[in-house]
Amino acid sequence: MRYLGLPLTSKKWSKVECHQLVEKITTNIQAGYAKLLSYAGRSQVINAVLFAIYNFWGAVFILPQSVIRAIDRKCREYLWGTTEGHRKMALVPWEILCRPKKYEGMNIKGCKHWNIASVGKLLWQLVTNKKVLWVRWVHGVYMKSCKSIWEHNPPSDCSWYWKKINSLKHNMAQWYNGRTYRLTSNGDYSVSSSYNVMLGQMSRCREMDLIWSRVMLPRHRFVMWLAYQQKMQTKSRLIQLNIPITGDAECCLCELGVKETQQHLFGDCCWVKNMRNALTKWAAISLPNMAIPEMIQWINRRHWKQLRKEVATTIIGEIVYHTWQARN
Ligand SMILES: [Zn+2]
Repeated sequence: MRYLGLPLTSKKWSKVECHQLVEKITTNIQAGYAKLLSYAGRSQVINAVLFAIYNFWGAVFILPQSVIRAIDRKCREYLWGTTEGHRKMALVPWEILCRPKKYEGMNIKGCKHWNIASVGKLLWQLVTNKKVLWVRWVHGVYMKSCKSIWEHNPPSDCSWYWKKINSLKHNMAQWYNGRTYRLTSNGDYSVSSSYNVMLGQMSRCREMDLIWSRVMLPRHRFVMWLAYQQKMQTKSRLIQLNIPITGDAECCLCELGVKETQQHLFGDCCWVKNMRNALTKWAAISLPNMAIPEMIQWINRRHWKQLRKEVATTIIGEIVYHTWQARN
């Protein structure tokens, strides 16, 4: 791996090599980080570990499907706290977590698409005919008679790697107008732009700016993000998902014998109402009693200064976080 020419001559990864890479990730994740309790902290560990892999392998190697699946699975299990013999439920689908934050995700760079987006840089060098060694090498060895990579058909006796790049290029063609990369304004290749395109249609979620704002305490952000998606594991949600609960399904913060739903726990419960009254009075912001997603949308629609919206969201975050702590 001294320079980019090398992987093109290499064979497909062997089972042993794949296994070694996956092992490396597992040890990296487990070494010292396993005890990190907050989801926010864990998602940062995941991205750090993933980036170490991408920088070392993923930028030039097309990782085999089995490796990609294994890496993504390891990350998922770590995030939700699954350990050997102790499965935890994924609260949010992996595809959503892999989106950028403004599109409701957690900004985890999922291996499946990030690897292709990284390797896409090699194709970009070919398309734009960059003066780098491996492009010259490819032209000398595989593309002697063909000037354009789009029209090139890889010879049947070429390396696994060259075949793979050529099979991937058909999907990558949509990133180009002829020889120009069209996803950035200056035409320079961007791994994250390619990655985002591969995630498919996503709609911009303005409320996310409030949830991930700097005013909000880091440990509150993730719970808030879950509550916004109605994914908190309240007793009624667990029952809905056919997961057995211990004790009854009622709210344990008040004596009213009401079912513990997200709406009750973070909105109607008198315990929450008292806290909300105190906080809104203190901040001089009045908030209606709505479900969390509607409430954040409501705040976002106000003609308020951004800071005021962020403070209002922070109050909700505070309420959700402390209610959840008190409940557990
Ligand atoms: Zn209650």
